[in-house]
Amino acid sequence: MLTTRLPSRVEPYKLAARAERLEGLMALADFARLAEEVGAQTGDIRVTLDFGIDAQGRRVIHGRLEADLQLPCRRCLSPLAQHVESEFLLGMVTSDDLAAELPSTHEPVLVEDEQLNLLTVVEDELILSLPQVVYHDEADCEVSRDQLTSGEDAVASREPAASPFDVLRHLKGKS
Ligand SMILES: [Zn+2]
Repeated sequence: MLTTRLPSRVEPYKLAARAERLEGLMALADFARLAEEVGAQTGDIRVTLDFGIDAQGRRVIHGRLEADLQLPCRRCLSPLAQHVESEFLLGMVTSDDLAAELPSTHEPVLVEDEQLNLLTVVEDELILSLPQVVYHDEADCEVSRDQLTSGEDAVASREPAASPFDVLRHLKGKS
């Protein structure tokens, strides 16, 4: 089992020169911007970062991330378990001007004083890979479609799974 903790800052040029792989966990609770977007999270994100220098001499990072998040359902706003994963290719730059020279396949990451803020980089990538909209299945959602169409407030108690009768009603309401 993977238990290594990734540092929040690294020296990316050295890692690229040695073609090193960093693999480990970061605490989701450390991501303040993520919490603003989708609410506070618990648990860890699993991250793999392969540092290297490509054929064009660019210092690059091939990354992969994976996390289990609790995202707010667009309909009832209560949390919904969602597995998020993505792969990305980063090109290290030391200024915005250099970022413009990167091919579109690479996302620029800013390296300042030979330091890279891994916390920021991983959080950016995680936010980019969030699904646009998540919904519970209708049977699990705390807001039924009937309530939505009749404009009632969400009830705190969980509705039982939709009966065939409910489905029929819903079909009728739609036509
Ligand atoms: Zn819901």
